[in-house]
Amino acid sequence: MKVVALAGGVGGARLADGLAQNLPPEDLTVVVNIGDDFDFFGLHICPDLDTVCYTLAGMANPATGWGLAGETWNALENIGRLGGPTWFRLGDRDLGTHLERTRRLAKGEPLSQITGDFCRAWGIQLTVLPASDDSVPTWVYTDEGEMPFQEYFVRRQCRPSVSGFRFADVDRSSPAKGVLEAIQRADLVVICPSNPWVSVDPILAIPGILPAVMSRPVLAVSPIIGGRTVKGPAAKMYAELGIEPSALSVARHYRKFLSAFVLDREDAALQSEVQALGVKALVTATWMHTAADRRQLAAECLSLGSALL
Ligand code: GDP
Ligand code: CA
Repeated sequence: MKVVALAGGVGGARLADGLAQNLPPEDLTVVVNIGDDFDFFGLHICPDLDTVCYTLAGMANPATGWGLAGETWNALENIGRLGGPTWFRLGDRDLGTHLERTRRLAKGEPLSQITGDFCRAWGIQLTVLPASDDSVPTWVYTDEGEMPFQEYFVRRQCRPSVSGFRFADVDRSSPAKGVLEAIQRADLVVICPSNPWVSVDPILAIPGILPAVMSRPVLAVSPIIGGRTVKGPAAKMYAELGIEPSALSVARHYRKFLSAFVLDREDAALQSEVQALGVKALVTATWMHTAADRRQLAAECLSLGSALL
């Protein structure tokens, strides 16, 4: 079964890793959000792409889910001593990724090609693609004004109350080479348990991607368990936007194209309401604490997905 997974950072990376444990590498393509990307110290930083790649390569920091295991912070400490900005945590080894990516981007190489080469160097056999080679930065509308995503997410630690989102220049962007082809070839599109507002919507907003996704069977895994997130602001965002934070709200978010939905045991009571949307609903353990949890959840997604074919 050929699968395309749409992923943000930590939640996306976890399920992508589970899918990679169940599928031959030629059958899995992971399309990653680039709305979080930004420039810092003149370096082009792609937090979600790096989280997915570090996770798939087995190099991620298990405590945080982002960044590298065994990281050191000498450069950042020195920047702090010199009075520079340290609100975005850049480890010493991680800096090497940003330096080399920025060097190649400056020569005019597309992000997708650079990502493919990095994956090969890190021993990742499946295909990881940025959703676009263009820059489509997410902006967050808040009660304290409009701000770039990382300003909201990291610097302000998601404290401002959100009222909406904007994906700048999205109308002028196009999917990275290979993205539409992979979706069109896919037997199943899996929407990972990523933030619907700022990880998945920015991928679907790139012209051409949503129609391609709508032409395939689509399965989503809820990032919200018992009304809360495992990590990050998705539940807080739902509440601030006046929508109840729940797995049901996530299913409704995707209802236009959703064929199947996976929700946590804690949310079993919502199963019939999800089914009432015309969506097949599976209740299972969705919190991926370990590599075995990832493999198990992905296997259940694939067997539910194969029932859709
Ligand atoms: P970010 O870019 O690092 O914020 O990552 P994502 O958007 O991919 O993931 C954030 C979402 O992942 C949050 O809404 C979390 O609740 C969800 N998430 C993280 N780990 C898990 C997990 O183990 N299971 C489920 N179901 N959701 C998870
Ligand atoms: Ca992200």
